[in-house]
Amino acid sequence: FAFKGCQKIRGAQIRVLLEAKDFFLFDCDGVIWHGENAITGAAKVVNALIRRGKNVVFVTNNSTRPRENYVNKFTRLGFTDVMLDQIFSSSYCSALYLRDVVKVRGQVFVIGCEGLRLELLEAGIPCVEEDDDPDATIYNCALAPDVKAVLVGHDDKLTFLKLAKASCYLRDPECLFLATDNDPWHPLSGGRILPGSGSLTAALEVASGRKATVIGKPSRFMFECISSQFSGIDPAQCLMVGDRLETDMLFGSNCGLDTMLTLTGVSQIEEAQEYRSSDLTTNHSYVPDYVVDTIADFLPAFEE
Ligand code: PLP
Ligand code: CA
Repeated sequence: FAFKGCQKIRGAQIRVLLEAKDFFLFDCDGVIWHGENAITGAAKVVNALIRRGKNVVFVTNNSTRPRENYVNKFTRLGFTDVMLDQIFSSSYCSALYLRDVVKVRGQVFVIGCEGLRLELLEAGIPCVEEDDDPDATIYNCALAPDVKAVLVGHDDKLTFLKLAKASCYLRDPECLFLATDNDPWHPLSGGRILPGSGSLTAALEVASGRKATVIGKPSRFMFECISSQFSGIDPAQCLMVGDRLETDMLFGSNCGLDTMLTLTGVSQIEEAQEYRSSDLTTNHSYVPDYVVDTIADFLPAFEE
């Protein structure tokens, strides 16, 4: 399209693009909702795409909930037609990776929320029990003998003991080191931020001298999960819509998808333009093909 290339598109251009694509991948936080609040118009857009027979999936790096919770959240927020098989979270994809790719034999030591553990258990992957002894320290605690992977996700109950145990397990070169995602931080309201799992992974990378394998965006693995569940998916027919250049746009670019930045989340159009004018060609993978203020800009395209 003549209008392709890191610029805001509107009206007829959006209509042409939506007609041309048949597979839509939406990031969640910053595109579909902010925390517990849907972005105005997002539910109408998603419902309209689904009703027009488009394939729609959600690709989120948030590892804290099992997929069932997302289905409930979508319903609660007015997205009436979203089903379990449309949800690809970094926790679900981590479970698939452990089960189907590395076929882990033994237990997984998890740094993460209950939702991540539930997703692993649902896939039949045994996790090391949480240590609830208040007197346990790294000097006196028991270490499980058969830990074959350490998986790091967002953990709002992180303790020094968990980090210390994970560091011990990672001494074994046979023990895999995985991260649900590498997000540095997440915006909260009122100018606050939440440190992301990337910050916990970084701590363990220093302690272990190893590099984690990242499952979530921008890694291609999430697209492989989608491809294996939607046969015949053609990257050229896909549009990846996200709010963060370093995860969503890079993910789309890594997977050969057209990318769209929405300005309702983390990244600004100026940052995209800076990447575009950078001499470093690797920076060009962060540049979106299209930009909209919000996915609500899709709505006029559905009017007759
Ligand atoms: N992980 C956590 C813990 C989060 O709170 C968020 C956003 O709120 C994310 C990841 C990013 O989610 P998404 O990929 O849907 O933007
Ligand atoms: Ca996001």
